[in-house]
Amino acid sequence: MEKGVERTKRVKYGEINALSKKYIHDNVDEVIITNQRMIITLSVLYFLVLIAYNIIIPIFFSDWGVHVIVLIIAFFRYRKKQRSLQEVQAVSAILQLYVMAFLVIVSVVPFEKEQPAVYFAPIMIGMPVVFIYSYNVAIILNAIETVAIVVVSFFVKSQEIFNINMFSSILTFVVAWYIIHILYSHRINESKHREKLRKMGMTDKLTGIYNRAATESMSQEYMQENRDTNFALMIIDIDEFKSVNDTYGHQTGDEVIQHVAKTIETAAGPDNIAGRMGGDEFMIFIKTWETQDDMKKIAADILRNAKKIEMPDDRVHVSCSIGVCALKGDEWMEYDDMFKCADKALYYIKEHGKSSCAFYSKK
Ligand code: GH3
Ligand code: MG
Repeated sequence: MEKGVERTKRVKYGEINALSKKYIHDNVDEVIITNQRMIITLSVLYFLVLIAYNIIIPIFFSDWGVHVIVLIIAFFRYRKKQRSLQEVQAVSAILQLYVMAFLVIVSVVPFEKEQPAVYFAPIMIGMPVVFIYSYNVAIILNAIETVAIVVVSFFVKSQEIFNINMFSSILTFVVAWYIIHILYSHRINESKHREKLRKMGMTDKLTGIYNRAATESMSQEYMQENRDTNFALMIIDIDEFKSVNDTYGHQTGDEVIQHVAKTIETAAGPDNIAGRMGGDEFMIFIKTWETQDDMKKIAADILRNAKKIEMPDDRVHVSCSIGVCALKGDEWMEYDDMFKCADKALYYIKEHGKSSCAFYSKK
C-alpha cells in the first residue's frame, strides 16, 4: 500500500468543517509552527510593501511607528518559542485583516488610471488558504475581505474601474473558496488515511508512523517486486535516550520520540517508507537512490533537525545515530541481512562518537 494521498476526493461542507477541527487537534504543533512562520513572513512582506508605497505616496502612510512596532513584536514573539494555538490563530487572523485594511485603503487611493485592488486580489486568495487552519475562519475572512473591496469600490468614480474591482473581487472569492476547499479536503483525506491505517494495525500508537510489522512487510514486498533497483535501509537510534527519560520523565521521553518520528517522516519524504521499530529506534527504507549523496542528504536532515528539538532546559540535548546499508541494483541481500548490516553500521557509529551517520561496507 502506498503512503499519503494520491488524489484529493471531494468532501462535503459539514464534514470538512467538523474534521478541520480534528485535524488541528491531531497536528497542533505543525499548525502552530506554520502559523508562526506565516506571521513573521507576512509582517516582513507588509513592511516592505509599506516602504514601497511610501515612495509612491509619501503622505498617505506616514504613520511608521505603528507598523514598526507590529513588525518587531511579530518577529521577536514568534521567532523561536512555540506559542499557544489560540494565540497564533488569533494573531494570524488579526494580521490578515490588518493587511486587508491596507489593501482596501490602497484601492481607493485615486490613481490616474489603474486600480491597485485588481493587482492585490491574488494576495487575497493566498492568505486565508495558508494562514488559518480552520475552514470556517478561512471562508469568513475571505468573505469579509471581498465585501470590503466591494463596498470601497462604490466610492470609486470611474464606472470602468468600479466594474473591474467588482468583477475581480467576486472572482477572487469564488476561486479562494475553491482553493480552500481543495486544500482542506486534502488534509482531511490524509487524516482519514492515517485513521484507516491505525485501524488496520499498521501504525505505531505513540507516533502515528508505520509500526515495525508494517515497515518490514512493505519493504520486503517492494524489494521482491523491484529487484534491480538501488535501494537502502537506514536505521536511526536516539543517542543516550535513557538520560532523557531519567532527567525529564517518561512523558517528555514520549514527546521526544514523537518529535523524532515526525523529523524522520519528513526527511524520508512521501516516496520512502518510514517506521518505528520500537523504543527509540526507527527505520527508513529508501526505495531508490542514484548517488550516496541522496542518502546522505536524508541522514543530514535527520541529524540536523533532531538537534533542533526543544528541551525543557540545557541538561540534555537530542541527537541521533544512523546506520545505512545501501545496495546497488546488481547486488542482492535478503531484508533481514540488510537490516543486520545497517545495524552494524549503527553500532560502529555508537562506538565512535555517536550523532553521525555510517554506511555499511564489508571492510
Ligand atoms: P544509545 O546512545 O546507546 O542508544 O543509548 P540509549 O540510552 O538511547 O540506549 P537505548 O537505545 O538502549 O535505550 C532505549 C531506551 O528507551 C530504553 C527505554 O527505557 C526507553 N524507551 C523505550 N520505549 C520507550 C517509550 O515508548 N517511551 C519512552 N519514554 N521511553 C522508551
Ligand atoms: Mg538509543
